[in-house]
Amino acid sequence: MTPHLRVCRQCDEPITDPDDAVLVAQEAGNSGPGWNVWAHRAHADRLEMHPVAVRVLARILLVRVFPQGG
Ligand SMILES: [Zn+2]
Repeated sequence: MTPHLRVCRQCDEPITDPDDAVLVAQEAGNSGPGWNVWAHRAHADRLEMHPVAVRVLARILLVRVFPQGG
């Protein structure tokens, strides 16, 4: 077993050097504590926005574009 194998969110490659791992997000699980999202240090800057922030923003925009109760 490989304990706590971290995979880069940007390039999907395993992050073998712990010093090269950057925590970019924490995602909530449907049941349980959720998990951390990692990226290579060099790739973390390419992830423009926090994934959870993107989801929340998308939901807000959808509600504005398609109002409920019409
Ligand atoms: Zn990477």
